[in-house]
Amino acid sequence: MAAALVIGAGVALYWRQVSHILERDVKSHVAAAGEEAASDFNRLIQTDQQVLESIAITVEDTYPWTEPARLTEFLQRQTRHNYFKLLGVITEDGKIYLSAPAQLDPAFVADVKARTLEEGHYLSVRQADPVDGEDVLVQSVAILQQDRPVGALFALQMPERYRPLLALSAMGNRGYSMVVQRSGVPVLGYYKTSFANVFDLLSHADFDGDMTPEQLQASVQEGKHFLVGYRATTGHRFLHFIPLEINDWYLISALPTTFIAQQAQRLTWLSLFLVVSVFGVFLALIFYIFHMRDYSNRQLFTTAFVDQLTGADNFNRMCEQFADKLAGLNGQAALVIFDINKFKVINDLHGYERGNQVLQRVARVLRENITPEECFCRSTADNFILLLKYTDRKSFRARIHSLATQLRRDCTVADSCLMIDVAFGVYEVKENIPFYIMLDRAHLALENAKKMSFDKCQFYDEADRKRIVAEKQIENTMEAALDHGDFAVYLQPKCDFATGKMRGAEALVRWNRLSEGVIRPDDFIPIFEKNGFILRLDMFILESVARLLAAWKVKGLQPVPIAVNFSRLHLNDSRYIPQMLRLVDKYDVPHEMIEVELTESVIFNNLTRAQDVITQLHRQGFSVAMDDFGSGYSSLNVLKSLQFDSIKLDKEFLSGFEDNPHAHKVIEGAVAMIKSLGIQVVAEGVETREQADFLRQTGCDVAQGYFFSRPLPAAQFESLLQQAASPDK
Ligand code: C2E
Ligand code: CA
Ligand code: CA
Repeated sequence: MAAALVIGAGVALYWRQVSHILERDVKSHVAAAGEEAASDFNRLIQTDQQVLESIAITVEDTYPWTEPARLTEFLQRQTRHNYFKLLGVITEDGKIYLSAPAQLDPAFVADVKARTLEEGHYLSVRQADPVDGEDVLVQSVAILQQDRPVGALFALQMPERYRPLLALSAMGNRGYSMVVQRSGVPVLGYYKTSFANVFDLLSHADFDGDMTPEQLQASVQEGKHFLVGYRATTGHRFLHFIPLEINDWYLISALPTTFIAQQAQRLTWLSLFLVVSVFGVFLALIFYIFHMRDYSNRQLFTTAFVDQLTGADNFNRMCEQFADKLAGLNGQAALVIFDINKFKVINDLHGYERGNQVLQRVARVLRENITPEECFCRSTADNFILLLKYTDRKSFRARIHSLATQLRRDCTVADSCLMIDVAFGVYEVKENIPFYIMLDRAHLALENAKKMSFDKCQFYDEADRKRIVAEKQIENTMEAALDHGDFAVYLQPKCDFATGKMRGAEALVRWNRLSEGVIRPDDFIPIFEKNGFILRLDMFILESVARLLAAWKVKGLQPVPIAVNFSRLHLNDSRYIPQMLRLVDKYDVPHEMIEVELTESVIFNNLTRAQDVITQLHRQGFSVAMDDFGSGYSSLNVLKSLQFDSIKLDKEFLSGFEDNPHAHKVIEGAVAMIKSLGIQVVAEGVETREQADFLRQTGCDVAQGYFFSRPLPAAQFESLLQQAASPDK
């Protein structure tokens, strides 16, 4: 509406402006065209007069025209040559010679003769041709003999010769000119004039400004050159009055102003059309731009937020809408992550095509199973995240269970017996924490779920998180702890059952943590085994042990062999034995002072490698003990082929020992069996006198346990060595 108003106002203003300019333009055009017509008219008349004068000269030569036939013939030739209508000679004494026979009005003849002889030339318009009654222009010059006029040479000109000058063709033929006498009597018009006097015609005209018809007439009388506008019944016109150089004649040019209005209208319509077209094109362009933007937005949305494979939302979309969806569920929600166990196997076995099909079906099943207020996405290969409504654990577990059943039923690879197996990790939204933390928690639950053998759905447990945080903390500080010497060696004596004397000791690591005091290996060794740090720690303990042995020797003490625990990771490390040798030799410690403890499980997991390592250790003079015997599955054959120097019975043999008569039998059997292979038996975890007595009776060689001594810091252990060196003290 407002736009239409603005456009309307614009058009009106433009119209006025254009009209003004056109009016000014037209006035100057009318003036210029009139002046041009006037000068053309003057020139033509003069040319014609010159032509007549030159003909007159020839005519004078044959004076007094004793051979009229020759004169007539000459006139005939000249008429044809110059396109006159008629050419004639009127003599002083009234004789007439004509280029063609014609009946001339005596009055006309008298008038032409009188005026020509008197003024030397004559120009007028006869209303009717003496020959055929048409309007003609009569022009004559004097025929002279010794500067005295003796006759008149006259020509009748056809008005067509002059009329084109009066057409004002520059004005689109909308205007015209006419020649009038000063009195207003028309002489020559573009059209045949049907009025007697132009001033009569203009006597009622309404002139622009204050001009009256009388003033107009007076101006003409004074021979003025001017332009005036007037309102006639047919509309407004401009009139341009120019005095001519011939007689008292005036050239009047007229142009209707409607011409201007029409021009303005045409121009305005043209401009309007242009403006509308430009506007239209502009609108179309804007529409196109918006359309394209919309289209590319949609494209962008698809690439940014839609998973191309399954058509489901992708992770970005999940992140984007998570807060809203959670709010929509009033916070009663659970974040679920699930993935397909061993999805890689499906890809490897059945090809990516099939793998993709499985994922597409999973997405379909999920789509069928969620309500509009819930959402899900595929985050990575076979990993899906769901935000579901949650009320209580029991019903939620039932829902997950049925979802799992449907997934197994609908997504199993076609023509194969391979059933897909899914695991779910669930985080029940309880606190307002960021999305990625919720995801972490659901992931943690998923890790636990994967460890299960059936019903693989686990809920996030805060204790798990704490454990992981603690583990992370241990990992973060282990390097610094090693550099700062926070790891220390404790030594636990091993006693000989036969003599009751200390036969050796086991090195056990302790970690002095500022915040928690001394912490036990069970809290950090499994972590170090996962991240490989145990390789460095074991070597650190070995070096500490070598250093102690060297120091004791210097102090003159009698050192005992020390057992060092080595992780299973060393077995697959080719640098293991060279590293050991370098450290032990660095302190010049005899190899037989070092005993290597390898746990039972390590050995059975990689028998050939273990055998190889044990052989090499023996070759270097180290003794080797099997640790934790009985905690896993030992086989007699293995014991025989591996040639351990000693075997340490696992602590578990002694737990519940007092009340369990079977335990006695088992220990007796184990000891007898090991001894039969010629291997020394060490009992671990001996806590009571009863246990010690029993073990001694079974033939056990060495004992280690709290009953004899707890693991001791190196300084305390050194005092034990000192006591042993001087038992009298
Ligand atoms: P392990 O090699 O079986 O070490 C014996 C564990 O039994 C030690 O626990 C010791 O303190 C404990 N112990 C000794 N006597 C008794 C007793 O009478 N009753 C009971 N209940 N326990 C007793 P610790 O020091 O906590 O070490 C735990 C485990 O950590 C060790 O078991 C060993 O497998 C590992 N470990 C300790 N130090 C190192 C090390 O430097 N390197 C490697 N790779 N593992 C180590
Ligand atoms: Ca051990
Ligand atoms: Ca052990």
